[in-house]
Amino acid sequence: MDTIAAIATAPFRSAIGVIRTSGPEAFAIAEKVLRFPKNGGLISHGQKRNVTFAYFTQGGETLDECVVCAFRGPNSYTGEDVVEYSCHGGVYLLNRVLRCLFAAGARQAEGGEFTKRAFLNGKMDLTRAEGVMDLIDAEYSSAARVAMQELDGRVGKSIDEIRGDLLATTAKLLAYVDYPDDEIGEVSTDEISEMLQKSLKKVSSLCSSYEQGKVLKDGIRTALCGRPNVGKSSLMNRLAGEDRSIVTSIAGTTRDTVTETVIFGGVKLLLTDTAGIRDTADEVEKIGVDRARKAMEQADLILCVFGEQVSDEDRQIAEEALQYQGKSLFLFNKSDLGQRPLPSWATAPSFPVSAKTGAGLQEVEEFVKSRFAYDFSAETALISNARQYQCLCRIQTALSRALDNLALTPDVIVSDLEEALAAVGELTGQTVSEGVVHEIFSRFCVGK
Ligand code: GDP
Repeated sequence: MDTIAAIATAPFRSAIGVIRTSGPEAFAIAEKVLRFPKNGGLISHGQKRNVTFAYFTQGGETLDECVVCAFRGPNSYTGEDVVEYSCHGGVYLLNRVLRCLFAAGARQAEGGEFTKRAFLNGKMDLTRAEGVMDLIDAEYSSAARVAMQELDGRVGKSIDEIRGDLLATTAKLLAYVDYPDDEIGEVSTDEISEMLQKSLKKVSSLCSSYEQGKVLKDGIRTALCGRPNVGKSSLMNRLAGEDRSIVTSIAGTTRDTVTETVIFGGVKLLLTDTAGIRDTADEVEKIGVDRARKAMEQADLILCVFGEQVSDEDRQIAEEALQYQGKSLFLFNKSDLGQRPLPSWATAPSFPVSAKTGAGLQEVEEFVKSRFAYDFSAETALISNARQYQCLCRIQTALSRALDNLALTPDVIVSDLEEALAAVGELTGQTVSEGVVHEIFSRFCVGK
């Protein structure tokens, strides 16, 4: 392992800029480039970590005054010797400091290389490393909370527990395979069945958390339905309010995919604006209607907006949406123009609202928030990562097969369990291939 260095803060003019170094030469490099005040020093023998003030120098010239944190491996983020320089946050300055570190023996770190080293040195498993990346990427509260529970090891802990159970079951079966005549090694099918079912239940519960984890992390796929001019855009602008942090047309997507994202109440809505739904002979319109249906089918939430007067077309839209029980919400807009009784077909949760005055929108926000709420204080882990979910599905399949094979010889069940354990290893990174590791960490930013 060589010694790596990178600017860890954003490349803008700022109060402070942090440069991170990690590797066997980190301390020696620091000694070369730093000058300490009297009685100062990087880190003394036997000390695990130290914070000190120092001058960053190049050929006798002082480039900056900085605060230096030294961590002696393995007591560091990467598990190696680490030195972090908190300099003044000038773009020119930081690049110059970085070049000095290169001249002193470090090399430029690749994206995610610090966290990759932390993983390779056993400081964290892959699920936690993925949590680090998700937390950096999080743009709103629910995504950050999902990432944090991943980062604090809740997912990793659940998997470790499952791994322990599977190893115990395998050991029991192997004892029998190796010593079939030995009474101690004898296993009862009931006992193995119970052990497998217990593991399968845990895995299935993690698998089924994925839907919610994905929604909280990536956003709620929302189909926005309604005739033209009922006030869909006005409503979205209102709902987004001041939190409207991203409103973009995502490049390269067509009209039948996400057209806008809106953040409100701490969750993200991925909006698909659909054409209306109506019986039509027109070929082009038919395509629009098909797309609207598909958007509804794929959505986690269907927001149907109606205007001051409801028509037959509104009824058709409502009927279509009502096929997706529990997903639909009816918004009767323009309530400022006068109160109207709800039509008889309004059997989904319905809210009179006004995009103009904002009336009724608080209730809509509360409803959506509670509909997708998750109790983060609960001990259970939430899966939000597609790679982890795929590994869990493989564990689930292997365990179900093991249960189906109970009547067969123990070695058949052992081979199913080995398959499940291989997927567990891939999930946590214990037996993951180099390619997968590279793929995961290359998505990180430089300096992390
Ligand atoms: P969309 O085609 O469904 O997206 O509808 P728009 O948001 O473009 O609104 C159509 C028209 O209805 C515009 O003139 C809006 O100003 C008006 N409008 C939207 N919401 C309201 C509302 O709550 N009250 C009133 N009075 N007018 C509204």
